Amino acid sequence: MAKKGDMLYAWTNDSDLAKKAECGGAVTELLKYALESKTVDAVLAVTRGVDLYEAVPVIVTNPKDLDNCAGSLHCGTILLSKLVMEYAPDIAGKKIGMVVKGCDMMGVLELAKRNLVNLDNIVMIGVNCGGSVSPVAARKMIREKFGVDPDKVTKEEIDRGQFIIEYEGGHKGIKMDDLEDEGYGRRSNCRRCKVKIPRQADIACGNWGVIGDKAGKATFVEVCSDRGAALLTKAVDAKKLSTEPADPKGIELRAKTEKSMLKLGDKWRERDFSALAPRLWETIGAETARCMKCYACIDHCPVCVTRPDRFEQPALMVRPGFVPADPMFHLRRFAHISDSCINCGQCEECCPSEIPLALFSHAIRTEADKFFEPKLGKPVYTN
Ligand SMILES: Cc1cc2nc3c(=O)[nH]c(=O)nc-3n(C[C@H](O)[C@H](O)[C@H](O)COP(=O)(O)OP(=O)(O)OC[C@H]3O[C@@H](n4cnc5c(N)ncnc54)[C@H](O)[C@@H]3O)c2cc1C
Repeated sequence: MAKKGDMLYAWTNDSDLAKKAECGGAVTELLKYALESKTVDAVLAVTRGVDLYEAVPVIVTNPKDLDNCAGSLHCGTILLSKLVMEYAPDIAGKKIGMVVKGCDMMGVLELAKRNLVNLDNIVMIGVNCGGSVSPVAARKMIREKFGVDPDKVTKEEIDRGQFIIEYEGGHKGIKMDDLEDEGYGRRSNCRRCKVKIPRQADIACGNWGVIGDKAGKATFVEVCSDRGAALLTKAVDAKKLSTEPADPKGIELRAKTEKSMLKLGDKWRERDFSALAPRLWETIGAETARCMKCYACIDHCPVCVTRPDRFEQPALMVRPGFVPADPMFHLRRFAHISDSCINCGQCEECCPSEIPLALFSHAIRTEADKFFEPKLGKPVYTN
């Protein structure tokens, strides 16, 4: 019987699913079992779109359809939390299971604080996340650094610090650190992220720490809640999943990997924020001068929840018929989310003018946290 705090290796007993899954298929099997056992009424997951650079959100009610979602899409930069809110009226009173990366999980928690979703009705199966690569950036990187046509790539993965591709004619891996030093690699918000294991989900699943004969064949599972423990126990009792205690050396290795990823996050924060610090407001002014008022930053932000008809009004300093939006629009938006920006990067990812909005809001949030919580370090801004 599983309990909160357990660390296990888990794998599906379904051999077809095992072939499609990223590791041991525990994530897919747990979500399938949640549907079959009516623990949830629907599942929100991600499936491959037109190619491996596109991740598409899907609502699934037939457990078998979840097999199409197995596997990790490292170029899937989608955020699922706001979708749950949008579906909330339709699924009111029903339970939903969802797969969450750290940012998805934080987005759900922010929406719960605003009473826009009910955590009692959401079962979160977490996946560890070292970061994702934007689809456009991934294609460019594969063409320029790997010398491979991105359309010929059949599989991508991030393993032991390398971005690895399989393509017609072979496979190749390049160290992520080397790629990132040259401006390729993960999205900049992911580099700064320090929520690599989503422990506020019910269960956190990953590949870090799976060693020995189970390497590549099992999912490392950390049980984070009593609800997660109950779901796992029932799935094992129903013979859907098998588990064994994680190897203590694997647990140690996972902890070390997490620690080094957090250190790397600090390094990127220092690098990005220090570069911005001397000319913060001038930079924000110059960059946001490209704003074309599409409001994608608001539409996709999981912590700014407003209605489009609220945008074009004097209080937001958005004058109809004028572009760019007045700088005050951006400052109001940054102020609004300054204590809750989760650094998911959606504002930046979806901005057609390529304004580094996530950098600005993450810098503002992180600096404010440091001012009020000195244990977090010294603020870098001087102006
Ligand atoms: C972008 C990304 C980075 C990751 N980095 C790490 C890491 O550094 N260390 C580590 O230990 N684990 C990492 N993982 C988790 C790992 O790849 C596996 O998802 C995990 O081990 C579960 O394996 P599984 O076989 O049980 O999953 P499966 O049964 O194959 O299920 C995978 C689930 O992930 C969902 N999914 C796939 N792509 C995405 C996406 N882009 N966004 C949201 N959901 C998605 C699918 O909907 C599916 O439900 C990462 C996952 C992703 C998506």
